[in-house]
Amino acid sequence: MDFSYPADVEAFRTEVQEFLTEHVTDAVLEEVDTGTVHSDDLHKAMAAKGWLSGAVPTELGGGGMSPLKMSVLIEELQLFRAPIDAMGVAIGMASIILELGNDFLKGEVVPRLLSGDALGAFGYSEPESGSDVAAAQTKAVRDGDEWVINGQKMWTTMAHVADYVILLTRTNPDVPKHKGLTFFIVPLDSPGIEIQPVWTMGYERSNATFYDEVRLDDKWRLGDVDGGWNVMKTALKFERGIAGGQFYSPPLIDATIDWATDAPAPDGGAMIDDPGLRESLVRAMIDVEVCRCFAQKTAYLADTGAPFGVEGSMTKLFASETFKKHSHWFMDAMGPDGLVKRVEGDGPHVAFVEETFRHAPVTTIYGGTSEINRNMVAEAHLGLPRARR
Ligand SMILES: Cc1cc2nc3c(=O)[nH]c(=O)nc-3n(C[C@H](O)[C@H](O)[C@H](O)COP(=O)(O)OP(=O)(O)OC[C@H]3O[C@@H](n4cnc5c(N)ncnc54)[C@H](O)[C@@H]3O)c2cc1C
Repeated sequence: MDFSYPADVEAFRTEVQEFLTEHVTDAVLEEVDTGTVHSDDLHKAMAAKGWLSGAVPTELGGGGMSPLKMSVLIEELQLFRAPIDAMGVAIGMASIILELGNDFLKGEVVPRLLSGDALGAFGYSEPESGSDVAAAQTKAVRDGDEWVINGQKMWTTMAHVADYVILLTRTNPDVPKHKGLTFFIVPLDSPGIEIQPVWTMGYERSNATFYDEVRLDDKWRLGDVDGGWNVMKTALKFERGIAGGQFYSPPLIDATIDWATDAPAPDGGAMIDDPGLRESLVRAMIDVEVCRCFAQKTAYLADTGAPFGVEGSMTKLFASETFKKHSHWFMDAMGPDGLVKRVEGDGPHVAFVEETFRHAPVTTIYGGTSEINRNMVAEAHLGLPRARR
């Protein structure tokens, strides 16, 4: 395997770095204080750069950005701590509609998503179904040319600022669970939708969304009636493609080094000279390099057209679990300093380690939990027997 990137990918990295240096300002980072990991200005600037439409596959009418460039883009966005919750949803939702949607959805929704004028949200999880997403109970019942939707979704992140949700519903309760599902694109200003905030311990805002007799014309249906599982598989394919690199830890390592450079050590000198902390920092840096190798291999496989699902699981699993571990190490190393919370008026870099400590666990849950990813690796890579469901 060649670990270097082709010249055009490196040139793209430089372009991304220049763009992010200009656009990820302290004001943009401070927008995350609202709990919503999104900045309208940054999102629209990325759309104007052509990176949203560029990420949609060529055969669907997009720019067909290569997986290598995509992984470099995600890596740099993460290294700059750019708030980009809306990006993956826009690219994913537009790609799914372009592959499986009708002409109405292609004309009405896709251009708005890819220009950054409209935002989307994923409405898969429910209070009783997350990992087992096919067990969704939110009901859609046909009434002439319309559908009537009733139910509740959980963790509909971005719903409070989004225009559309891609909603997984049950249209047939009398067949095996994977066979009775149907997807809709639902305008979030439809009568009967209520959105309530749900806060994580990392102060991120997600939502519980309630659907009470929500009426939708059939033109908002995405894919075949009871064919929702095919749509789900397409959605996961695009989600894995977008989730290229996973570089959670580098900003945490940088913040710890910043702190340690000035913090006094108990026996004199600065904490940066403490052998225990130095070892933790180096081990964390090694983990980041391992992560980079996983992410590079995933992108390389995708670039050559090979299956990359299990490598995507390995990358996400390793990156999120080591991130959580690093956040514990550095909180411990900081002692009482690690408990200092940001107060109003502080810049976004203050108390970053404390905030990361509260945020890191959630990265092992969303986008597929560590246990589910371990199952994938055990079955698809190690050839172990299928886990009992
Ligand atoms: C902050 C946040 C944002 C999110 N955003 C969205 C969003 O925008 N849209 C959306 O639809 N969803 C979203 N989710 C939901 C997320 O995808 C689910 O939380 C996740 O898939 C786990 O589902 P669950 O919470 O129902 O837990 P469960 O599936 O009930 O799992 C509970 C525990 O059991 C384990 N487990 C479950 N099944 C197995 C198995 N087969 N083998 C071994 N262990 C298993 C899990 O790993 C976990 O530890 C978000 C979640 C969070 C926390």
